[in-house]
Amino acid sequence: MKLANKHIFVTGGAKGIGEAIVRDAAAEGAKVSFIDIDVAVGEKLAAELSATGKQVAFVKADVASFEQLKSAFEQVVAKFGDVTGVVNNAGVNSHADPVTMTDKQWDDFFAIDMKPVWLTAKLALPAMRKAKSGSIVNICSIHGRLTYPGFFPYGAAKSAVLGLTRNLALDEGKHEIRVNAVSPGYILTDLTKNYLNAEVGRAERANSIQPLGRIGQPSEVAKVVTFLLSDKSTYVSGSDWAVDGGLGARSA
Ligand code: NAP
Repeated sequence: MKLANKHIFVTGGAKGIGEAIVRDAAAEGAKVSFIDIDVAVGEKLAAELSATGKQVAFVKADVASFEQLKSAFEQVVAKFGDVTGVVNNAGVNSHADPVTMTDKQWDDFFAIDMKPVWLTAKLALPAMRKAKSGSIVNICSIHGRLTYPGFFPYGAAKSAVLGLTRNLALDEGKHEIRVNAVSPGYILTDLTKNYLNAEVGRAERANSIQPLGRIGQPSEVAKVVTFLLSDKSTYVSGSDWAVDGGLGARSA
């Protein structure tokens, strides 16, 4: 039980990589709280895990709203005690055109894919500093370092998440709080399925370039996140863990 006595807070935990993180953390003995905008799926997941004796709580909240995030955070702290680990996972893709993208679309996108890394830190750090312990894991992407045409400005948001990871790791190290990023490549979730199915032949091309010959599973990302949340990684901070099956090592 790598996460016994920990309270892990996950954003976007109802589906995909976030769901796998919730499941793995609960299986490793953590109390797990998660937020999402998909209430039906979030409630179903929490009910399923609670029925097996796991301590899991779901609260509906949009990461783009500090008000909702704060309210959800306060509710889960009241239920499970101080948060010892945060996973910033909620995210959306962006395929905008730099000319037609509006100010609002830009702000809305960064409010989901970048700003919550700061907002959750604002909420979780006071207790972590007091406890002189804590782990924050930011789900970044292979796009933080290498991107594709047609993903504007997703690469910028994920690069910023890497930068924020380094800022927080350096500033919070003195409080014994660790901050790391995990950068998935292609992982089979709804987000990826929508992208792969949007063009004929795209899925075949994506599979053909994978060094391991296949797209990854959400559970394969979750296991790395659990390691970074656990006391198995006490000297790991400020790092970016590629979980991309080797794709980031491949030259075009
Ligand atoms: P996903 O399958 O779409 O799941 C994301 C979950 O977050 C969904 O339940 C979604 O709800 C929720 N969500 C979206 N916007 C939210 C908001 N504003 N507030 C709260 N919850 C919100 O996505 P995923 O593929 O698991 O991706 C998770 C993270 O991994 C993202 O940060 C993504 O950028 C990153 N990532 C994914 C891949 C990949 O290949 N899948 C690769 C690299 C990085 P709805 O479905 O209702 O919108």
